[in-house]
Amino acid sequence: DRLDSLADRWGALLEARVTIMAADGTVLGDSHEDLARLDNHLGRPEVQEALASGEGSSTRFSASVGYDMLYAAVPVQVEGEVVAIVRVARPLRQVQVHTARLGRTILLVALGASLVAALLAVAMAGRITRPIRHLTQEAQRIAAGDLGRPVVADSGDEVAQLAHAFNRMGTRLQERMGRLAEEQRLLSTVLSRMADGAIITDAGGRVRLINPAAARLLESPADAVGRSFAQVARNHQLVDLWRAASEAGEPREATIEVLRPNLFLRAIVTPLDADSTGETLTIVQDLTQVRRLETVRRDFVSNISHELRTPLASLKALVETLRDGAIEDPDAAERFLNSAETEVDALTQMVQELLELSRIESGRVSLHPEPVTAKALLARPAERLRPQAERAGVAIETAVPPDLPLALADVERLQQVIINIVHNAIKFTPAGGRISLSAQAAGNEVVLSIRDTGAGIPAKDLPRIFERFFKTDRARSSGGTGLGLAIAKHIVQAHGGRIWAESVEGRGSAFHIALPVTSEEGSDP
Ligand code: ADP
Repeated sequence: DRLDSLADRWGALLEARVTIMAADGTVLGDSHEDLARLDNHLGRPEVQEALASGEGSSTRFSASVGYDMLYAAVPVQVEGEVVAIVRVARPLRQVQVHTARLGRTILLVALGASLVAALLAVAMAGRITRPIRHLTQEAQRIAAGDLGRPVVADSGDEVAQLAHAFNRMGTRLQERMGRLAEEQRLLSTVLSRMADGAIITDAGGRVRLINPAAARLLESPADAVGRSFAQVARNHQLVDLWRAASEAGEPREATIEVLRPNLFLRAIVTPLDADSTGETLTIVQDLTQVRRLETVRRDFVSNISHELRTPLASLKALVETLRDGAIEDPDAAERFLNSAETEVDALTQMVQELLELSRIESGRVSLHPEPVTAKALLARPAERLRPQAERAGVAIETAVPPDLPLALADVERLQQVIINIVHNAIKFTPAGGRISLSAQAAGNEVVLSIRDTGAGIPAKDLPRIFERFFKTDRARSSGGTGLGLAIAKHIVQAHGGRIWAESVEGRGSAFHIALPVTSEEGSDP
């Protein structure tokens, strides 16, 4: 009875059915059922399990209460011996209600935790992505070419390291771009300054680069880049050469005459096909000057041969005449020998003048310029040639205004030039004529003028009278060498001055020498 009422109390306390049974399964107390109605419980699965393993449970339909129950049983041991078994049972529905409530609680907690976790994640992600977003913007700035400002990163983490890496990259990029720009500057300086023309064309035959020299030599259109080579070169010989070199894939070279402007060019076309780009480099060299010098040299040799032939032929004739008997006649022999001497003198003078010209041209004549008055330069030649002029019936007058600035000149050489010009004037002025020597200041030059009233120079010959060996037709027989004015021109030019002539045929000629003025004080020689 005591156990039964204990079971009742525990049952009320736990809100469950409590059954106490003896070790043999006889029910000794039950909180819900009448003991008399209860059979031996030893066979119940939870009791068996409790006896076997110290704890047992089972779910099944209870015939006693008439619905599904959850049973749990434990053995009660006294001094190691099982004396009783206590079992607690609750309706399964109740357990299920509890479990469901527990499940809901767990779900709510889980939801709450997830929400907190998600909020935290968003906050953290924001903290991490903000610097990355910043970095992305900076990288885009660098990509757009703004390398001047460094990327700022104030955090101390990987993002900052990335920023430093960006900065290093930016610095290196800037250095490299600086070097490239410098190289390009040098290259374009060379290209724009070099005397040779350079044109680069691409595989399609379009001009990709042309330097000013090429544009000047070929008179290419201003917007040459992008045009076809033919449009830019404007010369069929050059275009043919370029085509041949492109097709053959090997360099081709040719000399080309351009008629307008009158140029003589050497063109070298080199395919730049090291990596089969189909590009070609065309170099155009201006050989006009070289060609001209060659012509001058050739003309010089032919002129000199021509000039030597006449006196040598007459010498030969004189010698032959003497040998053929004239030597027996003293008077004739004397005449012939005089003639021979005149020829030899003329030859000697020519050789001397040639030597002089060559020495002046090659710069081996050293000038000793000093400040000098125009009067000093003109007076002596006038005095020296006055007797000769008077013999020819020609008057010489000198008119030099006072207070002219001093010119810088090698007195002896310039007087030689003036003597030469006055000498020509006497030679080409008939009796009754007049030669006037004058001077005037013009800008920072002093201009000396020698005018005559003589035969004058034909307009077609005027531009050529300063050339070596040049003589007008009228002068052919007069015995000059045609070198005097060439020497005069070189001496005046060596002074940094200019010489030119004006003439009206039949009325007279004027020769002018402009010399640079000096501010130095000079002595009057
Ligand atoms: P040359 O020694 O033969 O006189 P120059 O060089 O001094 O040679 O002169 C070249 C040519 O220029 C002369 O042959 C002559 O035809 C012409 N010339 C020079 N001075 C005069 C002048 N005052 N009047 C006419 N012709 C001149």
